[in-house]
Amino acid sequence: MNRIQIAIQKSGRLADKSLSLLERSGLQFARSKDKLFWFGRNLPVDLLLVRDDDIPRLLIENVCQLGIVGENVAEEKLLEVQQQRPDATLESLLRLDYGHCRLKLAVPEAARFESINDLSGRRLATSYPWLVRRYLDQHDIQADIVTLNGAVEIAPSLGTADAIVDLVSTGTTLRANHLRPVAEVMQSQAALYRCPAALGTESEELIGKLLTRIQGVQQAAESKYVMLHAPRSRLAEISAILPGAESPTILDLEGQEDRVAVHAVCTEQVFWEHLEELKEAGASAVLVLPVEKILA
Ligand code: ATP
Ligand code: ZN
Repeated sequence: MNRIQIAIQKSGRLADKSLSLLERSGLQFARSKDKLFWFGRNLPVDLLLVRDDDIPRLLIENVCQLGIVGENVAEEKLLEVQQQRPDATLESLLRLDYGHCRLKLAVPEAARFESINDLSGRRLATSYPWLVRRYLDQHDIQADIVTLNGAVEIAPSLGTADAIVDLVSTGTTLRANHLRPVAEVMQSQAALYRCPAALGTESEELIGKLLTRIQGVQQAAESKYVMLHAPRSRLAEISAILPGAESPTILDLEGQEDRVAVHAVCTEQVFWEHLEELKEAGASAVLVLPVEKILA
């Protein structure tokens, strides 16, 4: 059978979470220190550990069939490849809800900025020249793009640019460099992508199975198993409080006529407020347990 290769970031912001997600989805790898290839032990799925910037191209060229990378990098590299091959594509299968960041346009605190039109004829430093080019084109603005691979935020104080477009998650770096965000070019998070090429039936089935498992892991992370005792007369009220619970299981309690046990899988986050409401509705012995896996 053909093996599937999954590319993830070797080290950096997405590395640990990506590996952990795949392992929690049941993939086991023969880890090799320093090497960039880990052989899949229990399924025909191997891991490639690379720089995140290389992942989109590996997928577009079908060297890897799956990859986890930030949407910012995926879109930037796709735009770059499309300069030579306009028909190149990349398919996002699932957003993964980590690696959240925003690509922001920022100007020096002291600089005058009323609208994006003020950028006309200015120099913009960024590591994402193609995303920035697209953004400027959409706003019909002519500006010079200065591509830098790092330390973008110091470009204005060095005098090499008038504004920057850079990734921001908290804004601390911008403030430290006396820059203020004035517009948002893109929102991003890590996502699972696949190669555009159609694969054989077995590989397609395997990808489908992995996708289901990863979705199950994501759902389980939010879900809780809730057990409680409740007055039989207030069951409807109590069921309505349980967040995202479909049909709870109701069990008789030995020797108690008017109280029952309620068990439910809550697929949305369970907060303290929910527990307090349950108590007010007459619930007791409320237990909230983690859910490890879900196969819907
Ligand atoms: P590599 O060595 O793999 O090229 P890198 O330095 O390009 O690594 P990281 O800094 O590890 O990349 O960031 C990887 C991804 O994490 C980014 O492309 C982005 O999608 C996401 N990310 C989340 N928050 C931030 C942030 N505050 N700054 C930069 N990237 C962030
Ligand atoms: Zn990178």
